[in-house]
Amino acid sequence: CGIVAYVGSQSALDVVVAGLQRLEYRGYDSAGVAIQVADSSGQWSLATDKRAGKLVNLEKSLAQAPLPAGTAGIGHTRWATHGGPTDANAHPHQDDHRRVAVVHNGIIENFAQLRAELADRGHTLRSETDTEVVAHLLAEAFEGDLAEAMRVVCRRLDGAFTLVAVHADAPGTVVGARRNSPLVVGVGEGENFLASDVSAFIAHTREAIELGQDQVVELTADRVTVTDFHGAPAEVRGYHVDWDA
Ligand code: GLU
Repeated sequence: CGIVAYVGSQSALDVVVAGLQRLEYRGYDSAGVAIQVADSSGQWSLATDKRAGKLVNLEKSLAQAPLPAGTAGIGHTRWATHGGPTDANAHPHQDDHRRVAVVHNGIIENFAQLRAELADRGHTLRSETDTEVVAHLLAEAFEGDLAEAMRVVCRRLDGAFTLVAVHADAPGTVVGARRNSPLVVGVGEGENFLASDVSAFIAHTREAIELGQDQVVELTADRVTVTDFHGAPAEVRGYHVDWDA
């Protein structure tokens, strides 16, 4: 339903949760976040939390068990289509090794076939969602370049989707993709945003890029790179948001 992502130098959790609050008007039944975090020896992992119910449930959980700080992360408010509104079905979804986290708006039409293939290859699916297949497929496709993994995976998906993902082995990078569902880039100075709706980041920047059909975007703190699903560079149409959200 609602998607927010951030990479920059602020607390990603604070930016993402505030963005999700701005998207609450859309209606939702669950919420979750994933943040890239480094331990004292510089090892990267993903810290996640997700809860059925209102955003306040997630905020209470985060207050009880705070996540380590990080400057890149993703968040989601879910409107369930496949699988009831439970903690397990809330996004982000992860692969078996919890190196990938993905959030999704829309419906992956061919998820049943993809789930069966993944189960045959030894993956354990832990939710009833159509979304979870994407996390496992991204983990399989990842060879160091998350945008390339996203392109490989998107070519296998049918349906309508906005996808946003992070990988523990691609620190400082957030990747998004879209087909038949909106995704907007917020371009800041030394920070960039992704959201399903500009109101999620308008407090930080009014420079936006609307992602086109079948495009993948890679964000770092100071770079926005857009391609089609085959890796060809895409023309981007930037605009200034001059209304009050
Ligand atoms: N189909 C996905 C699910 O049920 C995403 C729903 C949404 O757009 O929030 O988990």
